[in-house]
Amino acid sequence: MKKKMGKKVVKKSVKKAAVKTLNIKTSKNSGQVKFLLQEKDIPTAWYNIQADLPTPLDPPLHPGTGKPITAEDLSPIFPMPLIEQEMSKKRWIDIPGEVIDKFKLWRPAPLFRALSLEKALGTTAKIYYKYEGGSPAGSHKVNTAIPQAYYNKISGVKKLATETGAGQWGSSLALAGGMFGLEVEVFMVKVSYEQKPYRKMMMQTWGATVHPSPTNYTEVGKRILAEDPNSPGSLGIAISEAVEVAVKDPNTKYALGSVLNHVLLHQSIIGLEAKKQMEMAGDYPDVIIACNGGGSNFGGITAAFLADKISGKKKNLRCVAVEPTACPSLTKGKYAYDFGDTGQMTPLVKMYTLGHKFVPAGIHSGGLRYHGDSAIVSNLYEGKLIEAKAYDQLPVFEAGVLFAKTEGIIPAPESAHAIRAAIDEALDAKKKGEKRVILFNLSGHGHFDMASYESYLTGKMKDVALDNQCIVDGLKSLPVIK
Ligand SMILES: *Cc1c(COP(=O)(O)O)cnc(C)c1O
Repeated sequence: MKKKMGKKVVKKSVKKAAVKTLNIKTSKNSGQVKFLLQEKDIPTAWYNIQADLPTPLDPPLHPGTGKPITAEDLSPIFPMPLIEQEMSKKRWIDIPGEVIDKFKLWRPAPLFRALSLEKALGTTAKIYYKYEGGSPAGSHKVNTAIPQAYYNKISGVKKLATETGAGQWGSSLALAGGMFGLEVEVFMVKVSYEQKPYRKMMMQTWGATVHPSPTNYTEVGKRILAEDPNSPGSLGIAISEAVEVAVKDPNTKYALGSVLNHVLLHQSIIGLEAKKQMEMAGDYPDVIIACNGGGSNFGGITAAFLADKISGKKKNLRCVAVEPTACPSLTKGKYAYDFGDTGQMTPLVKMYTLGHKFVPAGIHSGGLRYHGDSAIVSNLYEGKLIEAKAYDQLPVFEAGVLFAKTEGIIPAPESAHAIRAAIDEALDAKKKGEKRVILFNLSGHGHFDMASYESYLTGKMKDVALDNQCIVDGLKSLPVIK
């Protein structure tokens, strides 16, 4: 009862203040910065948005036959429990106790009110953010690395092969594999291997083997090196190498850190926690924002809230996926069947894509340089349940630096895309005198990205306009589906 009355008072005073001044000294909880849950509040089931999609996902197709893929087709590369989750339409899927026990290392993750940022912007909006950088590897990716390692372990798998671009996923899987006694072999995109030695050392510290990709260990790698011995590598190539290793060894499976349905399922824990925390704060978001590479942190923070939009309970909720202009799969891509990798080994997935041969420029947000997007996020975008926006690097880093100065945390360049969009929402609300409630996901910290901050702070960073011809050429690589 008391709580309810408190809420009403808050709303009234905010409205008045919005008319009078643009300051935000109004809400009752305006002094409260953190909204914390207890260990016992860690969600015990993941929310599967596949159960509620107004239009079901188009089935992934076998790359050879063009027919919808079966569980058996996937069994050389994934263990059965993950294949079941990939295809499941069950609304809630239990999180195993062993997985929750590992999550307790850093979950529940805090939700913050960005009061200092609000003040700096002089906005009438309220900005909240969920912080996923407190995981041991520094990003949300550990949320899926742990369950993936667990399900592989209980399925008798001995080794996991994977790719990594900037190194966030590789380090998350190295950690999780170590926790469950699995060997981990990582194909790291060669340019990143050379540019980011500390991510590599992190993986090695947790016991993983790391190769600069393309390598001479796989047929795909050999083929690419024969064509171009100096190939800098790409995520698409590294995926092909890791898949090949998994296919060839019955004791090895493949693991992917984004894009797939089961990855988005695991990341739903972000939004489930955030929903409880927003209740504690006495607010419900008007707009939810996250950066979008393969779609897992965006899908993760939005899923539980989108359920309310789909059911009609929160029809006006907006969700904004933010991508780099250098790799604009949602804003400039095409909704079509495409391969997930350069070597054409993965199933064909219906998604927003720039074409599997599209190679994005070497921007600093390595985690957002993927030609495609997840089937789920693509489906939501096609169904107009979500929006998308793209930014250049410079405004993104400007936002990242302002955030570091006001809120303290130095964000990953990927996450800074979400910050930029959140700031622009807050400024738009200020212009319109609106009390908008903004929630964004801070997917990771930027402690291993200081070279990119140096490039920004010393004025060396440039924005390169994406040549339209690159998109046209990339889209030419889309396979023809019979
Ligand atoms: C990998 C990564 C991303 C992009 O991946 P999604 O699957 O789109 O979430 C974003 N932020 C950070 C910190 C990452 O490591």
